Amino acid sequence: MSAAGVERLIVAMDGPSGTGKSSVSRLLASRLGASYLDTGAMYRAATVWVLSQGVDTTDVDAVTAAVASLPLEIGTDPTAERVEVAGEDVTGPIRGAEVTAAVSAVSAVPAVREKLVAMQRDIATRSDRVVVEGRDIGTVVLPDADLKIYLTASAETRAARRNDQNVADGRGDDYAGVLADVQRRDLADSTRALSPLRPADDAVTVDTSDLTKDGVIDALLRLVHDLQGARS
Ligand code: C5P
Repeated sequence: MSAAGVERLIVAMDGPSGTGKSSVSRLLASRLGASYLDTGAMYRAATVWVLSQGVDTTDVDAVTAAVASLPLEIGTDPTAERVEVAGEDVTGPIRGAEVTAAVSAVSAVPAVREKLVAMQRDIATRSDRVVVEGRDIGTVVLPDADLKIYLTASAETRAARRNDQNVADGRGDDYAGVLADVQRRDLADSTRALSPLRPADDAVTVDTSDLTKDGVIDALLRLVHDLQGARS
């Protein structure tokens, strides 16, 4: 128990894109009264910064030089996303097509990962309760997390969900294109040399293909409950 009487809890949420990981992580954090850190948003913000500097995102030396002065601020309120680069709100732009196309290259640069992983550890260790979402949280960023979840779903399910979201947001209907993008990013993220996407040995894998969001949250809350029961 901490001084405030709240048991310290660090939850690592990893998995590929399109598993519903962000909305589930946000909701889980709210239900636990915890902070929420979206590390994908940090890689996206770094990409916004690199692009704004006119840097070729495939030029490792130029990206390395650009991120040395990355002016990134990220909020941890699960009910209000806030990402700023150089004092400017980039919450919308980080989800744009240009950033989505370039983020895998930027996030594969060692200096980018070093910088953002240090920030992520710092934010997580300053929180009593936190849900940290990403690709390498349980394996690299927070290997001592109390609970490690690996959310997964078939590529087709993930592409259909993302495409539905695009349609709802007025960004067009292109299932085949979205599926190709999901597969391209999965391959890039799981085969890169540095922090490839994979479940930690001690992670609990949850397949969300046939679960509703509430079903996933119930399963995760049960895991937290079991953990707390085992501790007391
Ligand atoms: O989660 P999201 O899809 O917004 O992440 C965008 C990209 O950031 C991923 O495709 C991946 O290349 C990168 N990323 C990463 N490590 C993390 C989180 C995201 O490399 N912990």
